[in-house]
Amino acid sequence: MYVDVHAHLCDGKYGGEIDSLVKAYEEAGVGIVINSGYDLTSSEKVMAESQKYDSMYFSAGVHPDEAKTLDNRAIERLTAILRDKKCVALGEIGFDFYWNKSTEEEQIFAFEKQMEIADHLGLPFVVHSRDASAKTSAFLKDRKSLINHGFLMHCYSESAEMAKVYESLGGYFSFGGVITFKNAKKDNVIKAISPERILTETDSPYLAPHPFRGQLNDSSKVVYVVQKLADVLGKNLQETKDIIRENTRRLFGI
Ligand SMILES: [Zn+2]
Repeated sequence: MYVDVHAHLCDGKYGGEIDSLVKAYEEAGVGIVINSGYDLTSSEKVMAESQKYDSMYFSAGVHPDEAKTLDNRAIERLTAILRDKKCVALGEIGFDFYWNKSTEEEQIFAFEKQMEIADHLGLPFVVHSRDASAKTSAFLKDRKSLINHGFLMHCYSESAEMAKVYESLGGYFSFGGVITFKNAKKDNVIKAISPERILTETDSPYLAPHPFRGQLNDSSKVVYVVQKLADVLGKNLQETKDIIRENTRRLFGI
C-alpha cells in the first residue's frame, strides 16, 4: 500500500467533501493517511473524521504560526485530543521564521511544551521547520532527553548534512510533491538519508506533485511521490512501498 503521513483533508478548500477524498485515495491504493491538525479547532476536526474511516489516522498540535494560542486551557484540550486511539503523533509543531505569525519566544514556548507533552504520552512528534534550519537542529539537540519516541521532519527541505544531525537524534523525514518538481535538486538529500528513515506525504491541499503542480492536491497523488522516490533510490516500486510501509509502522505504530 501507499502511505501519506501528512495531509490536511479537513481544509476548507475541499468544502467538506471528505468522503470523496477518502474514496479517491483508497482507489489509488493509499492504505494509510495521517490527517494533520495545526491548531485546536483543526485538531478536533481531524479527530472526529478519523473515527469514520479505518484508513485515516490523525496528528494533533499547535503549528508555530499559532504558537501564541497555546495557553493552559489549550494545553488541557490538546492533551485530551492526543489520548484518542486514532491519534498517532503530536504535531505539527516547530519554527516558522518565514511568516513570523507568532514571536520567537512564543514559538520556543509552544515547541518545547508540546515536545514535553508528546514525551509524556509516548507519542512521536511532527516538525515543521521553515527558514529555521540552524535553530531547529540546535533546539532539538539541546532537548535530546525529550526525544524518546522519534520525530518526523515533515516536507523535509533542509540539507543533506543537516539530515545527518536529525537522523542521529532519531528523526525521520517525509518528502512530498516538491521532489517531483523540475529543478527540485533533492536527489542528493534523499540519497544521503538511510532508506529506513524515509516517509512520504502530500501536505494536501498544498504542493501537488508534477504534473499537477499549482492545482489542488489530495492524498491519492502520493503515488507520484513514491514513484519519484523509487527512481532516486534505484529501487522498484513495490520495494519502495514496502520500505515506507514498514517505516510507518516503526515510527507511528500503525
Ligand atoms: Zn502541514
